Amino acid sequence: MVTYIADLHEDVSYHVLEHGYQDFSTDINGRHADIPKYKRGGVKLVFAAVFSAIPTWDPRIQETLSRGYGGSTPISRSYIFRAPLQMALEHFKVYYRLARALGKDLFLVKTRGDLEYAGRDERIGFLISIEGAEVLEDPGDLELFFNLGARSLTVTWNYDNRYAASCMSKRDYGLTGEGEELVSIANDLGVILDVSHASKKTALDVASLSKMPVIASHSNYSGVHRHPRNVDDDVIEAIKATGGVVGFTLITSTIGEKPSIQSLADHVMSVWERFGPDVLAVGTDFFGIEETPEGLSDVSMLPRLFSELRSRGMGESDIRKMAWDNVVRVLESHATRWPA
Ligand SMILES: [Zn+2]
Repeated sequence: MVTYIADLHEDVSYHVLEHGYQDFSTDINGRHADIPKYKRGGVKLVFAAVFSAIPTWDPRIQETLSRGYGGSTPISRSYIFRAPLQMALEHFKVYYRLARALGKDLFLVKTRGDLEYAGRDERIGFLISIEGAEVLEDPGDLELFFNLGARSLTVTWNYDNRYAASCMSKRDYGLTGEGEELVSIANDLGVILDVSHASKKTALDVASLSKMPVIASHSNYSGVHRHPRNVDDDVIEAIKATGGVVGFTLITSTIGEKPSIQSLADHVMSVWERFGPDVLAVGTDFFGIEETPEGLSDVSMLPRLFSELRSRGMGESDIRKMAWDNVVRVLESHATRWPA
C-alpha cells in the first residue's frame, strides 16, 4: 500500500487561468485533479507550476513544437514568452488564492516547518515551481521569486533562453555564463534546479555545477522511447550523482506508441534496473497535457501505476521511495536554506 505520493509537476494555475475556476473541493468528473481526487490517490505534495508563456498563433512555433513532441496529432497551440514577469505574477496570485479559499485542505510549502507538516498533515502541500527562467530578467531576480514563494525552477521550457539551451534547441550550447550564475544563486537560496525541458548539455552542465540535488520533474527515459523531452543514461547518471530524481510523466508522446500504465511502467522498470530506486519519482504534468495514458486519466488513479510496478517485482520500500521518500530527501536538503 502506497501511503503518500508527491507529484513533481502539475499546471494547476495554468488550468485556472485558461479555463476559469470551479470549486476545487468538489470532485468534477474528467478534471485532472481536485481535492477529493488528491485525497483518494494519497497525493500529499504537488509541485505547482508557474508557466508564464501566453498563447499565440505562429505556424513556425507550432511546427517546432509538433516536430519536437512528435505525437500522432500535431500540436495545435503555440506559446510565446511575452512580458512573462507580468504573467508569472498572476500565476502566483492563483496559488495564494487557492491556499486561502481551500485553507482547510491545501497549504503552500515555503518553510522548513511547512515541509515537516507535508505528509503528516491532512492537507495537501503545494510547492510553487517556476517553469521557464524567462521570467528572470536577471539571475538575481530569483531571490524576488523565492520571496514570493517559489522553491523550484526549470531553467528552460521548450525554447532557448538567455540562461540555457532547451530540448528543442537547434544549437545545444548548454548553460550560458548567466546560466552558471543562476545555478549558483539557486543553490544559495535553496531553489531546486529542474532540467526537464532542457537540452542534454544544459542538463549535464546544471548537474555538474550544482552543489545540490538536481531534478528532471516531468520526463521519461530515452532508453525506452527516444523523445527530446526524455532523459538518457548520461543525464540520469548525472542527476543521480547529485542525489536528485527523475519524475516519470504522463505526457503521452514521451511514453511511446501505446501510452498506458504498462508502457509507462516499462520506463520506470528500465531505470530502476539500471540506476536503482533512489532516482525514481513521479511528475504527472496533469493540467498541462491534453491526452492521458490509458488507465491514468486523473490524479486519483496514480496508485494503479504503483500496483503495476509491484506486480512486476518492485518491492514495497522502493515503491515508497519513488512515491514519496526520494522527493522528500531532495526537499529536505534544500530546506536547510529556507526560513524556519
Ligand atoms: Zn512542462
